Amino acid sequence: MIDVRNDLFIDGAFRPALTVERISLINPVSEEVIGMVPAADAADVAAAVQAARRAFPEWSRRPPEERALVLDAIADAYEARGEEFRALITLQNGSPSWWTELTNAAPIYRLGAAAARNFPLEVPFELLGRKALVHRQAIGVVGAIAPWNAPQVLMAGKIAMALAAGDTVVAKPSPETSLDAYLLAEVFQEAGVPNGVVNIVTGGAVTGEALVRNEDVDKVAFTGSTSAGRAIAEICGSLLRPLSAELGGKSAAVLLDDADLEHFTSVLNRECIPYSGQVCFSATRVLVPRTRFADTVDAITTTLRATPYGDPDDPGTIIGPLVSERQRDRVRGYIRGALTDGATAVLGGDRDSDFARGYYVDPTVFVDVEPEMPVFREEVFGPVMSVLPYDDEAEAVSLHDATPYGLSGVVFSADIERATDFARRLATGRVLVNAVSPPPHRYDGFGVSGFGGGGGGLYRIADYVNTKVISQPG
Ligand code: NAD
Repeated sequence: MIDVRNDLFIDGAFRPALTVERISLINPVSEEVIGMVPAADAADVAAAVQAARRAFPEWSRRPPEERALVLDAIADAYEARGEEFRALITLQNGSPSWWTELTNAAPIYRLGAAAARNFPLEVPFELLGRKALVHRQAIGVVGAIAPWNAPQVLMAGKIAMALAAGDTVVAKPSPETSLDAYLLAEVFQEAGVPNGVVNIVTGGAVTGEALVRNEDVDKVAFTGSTSAGRAIAEICGSLLRPLSAELGGKSAAVLLDDADLEHFTSVLNRECIPYSGQVCFSATRVLVPRTRFADTVDAITTTLRATPYGDPDDPGTIIGPLVSERQRDRVRGYIRGALTDGATAVLGGDRDSDFARGYYVDPTVFVDVEPEMPVFREEVFGPVMSVLPYDDEAEAVSLHDATPYGLSGVVFSADIERATDFARRLATGRVLVNAVSPPPHRYDGFGVSGFGGGGGGLYRIADYVNTKVISQPG
C-alpha cells in the first residue's frame, strides 16, 4: 500500500499543501514506492514560518516549567507510538532494528524538559560595585533540517532544545524519511503542543533552502552533509543568521599496540560500520601497529563474514541495505575508485550483492590504502573500511588527522590512561576510549565536521537563546 500525503503540518493541523509537486519514497529492500509526500515550495514554507511566528510570543513567555511539562507530554506520546516509529523508519531507510532502536527520540524530549527546568535563564553578577544581569531569552523561529539516518533523534535534538528555550520551530525532515514526520505531527497533537509551536514541511533541498532563506527565520539548525552545510552556511552568512551545523565525518579507530583485538571485533559493527556505515561517526578508517596489521585484517574480515547481513526487518540482522539507489551507486563508485587507485579489497569489492533486490553493498575492506586516496579522505557513507598500518604513535596521530573532517574517533588500549592521553592529541570532536560507554552529550565537530552545536545534549539549550546583559545602577 502506498501512503499518499497531500498535506503539511501547519498551525497545529494537517493542511493541504499549496505545491502540486510530490516526492516518492522507495523501500530500500523491495525497491518499491511506499509513499508520496509534498515537496513544499516557498509559499508552503512561508505559511509554516508565519504560524511559528504567531505562536512565538505566547510560547516564549510561558514559564520554563510549563514548557517542560509539554516536552514531557511529547516524550510520553512518542513512547506510546514507539513501535510505529520503529517500523516506519526501517520501512523507509532500511536501518536494521538494533540501529532503529538506538534512535528512539523520547529520551531527547525528556532531556529538553530537563534543560527547560535546569538551565538558568538569568544570572546576577556584581563586579567593581556594579550590578548586572545576564539574561537569556528565546531567539524566535528556528528552521530545523535533519537527515534520514537517525531521523527522529536528530530532529528531536533541535525541536526539544528550541522548545525548552521558548523558540518555535519549522522542521524539515529528509525526503527519504518523511512518513515518520507525519507520525511525529500526530504526537505533537496528542501531547497538546500549542498550535504553531512546531510545524513540519516535507521536501528536499529546494524546500530546505526556502526555509533557510525565509526572512522570518531567526536561526537555522542543520544536520547533514558537509556540502549541504556549506551551501546553507553561505546563505546564513550573507543574512548574518545564526547557524548550528552538524556535518559529515571520516572517523578512525586507532588500535594501540596493547589493544584487545577480540574486544575491538566485538564492537566493530557498532563503531566502524553501524547501519551499513551510514552514520556520521562511523570509524571506517582503522589504524593498526604494523606488527599487528596482518592479525587485525584477518580478525576484521572473519568478523564481517560472520555478521548477519540481509533484511533489516529480521531482528537478527546487523548489516542491511543502503538507503537509496543513489547512495548505493555512490558507494560503489568509491569502491571502484579505490581499486583504480591501487587499493586491494580483502573482502567485498566491486561486485553486485547476492540479493535479487534491494540497495545492498557487500561489506568491503581495503588494504594498500594511501592517505591521499578519496576512499581514505572522503565520507563514503557505506560499509567500506580502510585498514592502514603505522610505525609509531606520532604516525598514528598524523594519519588520524589526515582528513579535513574531525567528528569522532575510537582509541583501543589495555591502558585507559594511555588511550586518554593519545585521545588528547587527536583533532576530533569526540573520542571513545575502547568504545565502552558512549557519552550522553552531543559534541561539536572540528574542521569541516561542523560548528555551533545543534541539539541532543543537556547544555545545547544554550544554542537556542540570545544572551543580553542588563546593567543596573548601584
Ligand atoms: P544531506 O546533506 O543530503 O541532507 C540533509 C538534509 O538537508 C535533508 O533534509 C536535505 O533535504 C536537506 N538539504 C540538502 N541540501 C540542502 C540545501 N542546499 N539547503 C537546505 N537543505 C538542504 O545529508 P543526508 O544524505 O540526508 O545525510 C547524511 C549526511 O549527514 C552525512 O554527511 C552525515 O555524516 C551527516 N550527519 C551528521 C551528523 C552529525 O551529528 N554531525 C549526524 C547525522 C548525519
